Amino acid sequence: MKIDILTIFPDFFRGPLDYGIVRRARETGLVEINIHDLRAFTKDKHRTVDDRPFGGGEGMVLKPEPIFECLESFGDVASREVRLSAGAKQSVILLSAQGRRLDQTLAAELSALDRIVLICGRYEGVDERISEHLADRELSIGDYVLSGGELGAAVIVETVTRLIPGAVGNQASTRQESFTDVRSEDARTESFTVGAQLAGDGPSSTCVSGGLLDYPHYTRPADFRGMAVPEVLVNGNHDQIRSWRRKTALAKTLRNRPDLLERVALTAVDKELLAQIKLDQIKLVQGTTDGDGASPVSTKDLSAKDHGKS
Ligand code: SAH
Repeated sequence: MKIDILTIFPDFFRGPLDYGIVRRARETGLVEINIHDLRAFTKDKHRTVDDRPFGGGEGMVLKPEPIFECLESFGDVASREVRLSAGAKQSVILLSAQGRRLDQTLAAELSALDRIVLICGRYEGVDERISEHLADRELSIGDYVLSGGELGAAVIVETVTRLIPGAVGNQASTRQESFTDVRSEDARTESFTVGAQLAGDGPSSTCVSGGLLDYPHYTRPADFRGMAVPEVLVNGNHDQIRSWRRKTALAKTLRNRPDLLERVALTAVDKELLAQIKLDQIKLVQGTTDGDGASPVSTKDLSAKDHGKS
């Protein structure tokens, strides 16, 4: 995949794209990232990239000319019409607080493209003609206002790059993460089933999040300052581990992101686990825990009394 970033602060990207998975993906040629300084596409001696807003008002607005000319200089970006058609493999994205909000599903869609151009705004924003006639979509990284699109561009690059096949050593790990709703035919066979028997397989490959939050992870030492890891994780019973992971993922989602539970298709087993979690909550409130001993996380999860789901 080729990614071009248009910015008035090219040095901003020294660092964020030079570590971990993105760095490796660049080194192995899986992704090529080019940063373009918009000031190089100005014609006046002050290299002006912004101007006052028509109609008056606060702040400055990024001018359209340098952005159009920078994009046109690439020579190999498909027309906006083609980019907007079904099956297009390129996208020119304007970073904007007013855009569609990035999520894991959209990141997965973008990871299938060959070419992404990211336009970073600054000041009060970008002349609207960029959104109307040049970019094929506006993307926001969340419901808050940044000072510029650069951090958003770095977020998109990292989120999308790690989903390109080959970028992450163990690809199964990106499928089991938070928010990942695996819909493809092959992936469906991986969906969570208590007691799934996969020859020679550990528990994790069957614990896809299915659109929920990820389950809690622990590593050595098993006892850190008296804080022990859940017993179930060290007993080697993969069925129990799978069940515990699903239950804690459900509990955490119920506590932190109950909205996600409305959107995912829960299995009968999920519903049973969720009922158990809610029952445990009631017991905890009444001070009559007998628990299954499977989850120290559940104590935390179950203490959330204010999410209105019980
Ligand atoms: N006046 C605008 C904010 C401009 S902030 C408004 O109220 O919507 C300047 C630039 O920062 C924007 O042009 C955009 O490129 C970037 N930016 C700000 N918030 C963002 C967000 N949540 N996601 C992506 N880009 C954002």
